[in-house]
Amino acid sequence: MTKPMNNDITHHLSPQLLMAYSAGTLPEAFDLIVASHLSLCDQCRAEAESYDAVGGALLEDEPTAEMAEDSLAATLRMIRMGGEPDEPAPARPGTHVLPRPIRDYVGGDLDAVRWQNVGRGVRQALLPVNGDARARLLHIPAGTAVPDHGHQGLELTLVLRGAFSDTDGRFGPGDVEIADQEIEHTPVAEEGEDCICLAVTDAPLRFSGLMPRLAQPFLKI
Ligand SMILES: [Zn+2]
Repeated sequence: MTKPMNNDITHHLSPQLLMAYSAGTLPEAFDLIVASHLSLCDQCRAEAESYDAVGGALLEDEPTAEMAEDSLAATLRMIRMGGEPDEPAPARPGTHVLPRPIRDYVGGDLDAVRWQNVGRGVRQALLPVNGDARARLLHIPAGTAVPDHGHQGLELTLVLRGAFSDTDGRFGPGDVEIADQEIEHTPVAEEGEDCICLAVTDAPLRFSGLMPRLAQPFLKI
């Protein structure tokens, strides 16, 4: 797998999710999956940047608030001391299975993941995120079906390696499936390669108002 994945991505994030990400109102688990998809997808990154620009324009219209006298000096000092430099985007595919945002949680790439068996050869690793929303890596053996399930809330699944198919179509590396209460599905990992995904879910029964709530501060409605 050495070819660039950008052109292969056909399932993207929704404008609502990108807006909420830009506004900084997403639970940590959703923040993680959005950042991970953006590191693989030029199209969504460009869209997210356009929302950032809108947010910036809104900020410019806000009346200014005085900051402490030394804030500028302190910020410049922090910049000079340097922080973690951002990884140039898009991440080069083929070098890592896990995008940078996920590696930060795992403490390394795939070999650092501590898997737990959940049956039928499927393994999971919960990632330590704050809040009610959960983030987990899934390892689904090639040709294996994940037990049929519905959703009490919102579930996003980002494919990192391999592919799976369900009633919504085929999802390959970089693709993200957005599933809600309407969807009953039985994802089946494609033959030939084990499928590794990042899946995030919000708290049960909290979806109905979630997206409007998340977009609200940004849209100021
Ligand atoms: Zn995308």
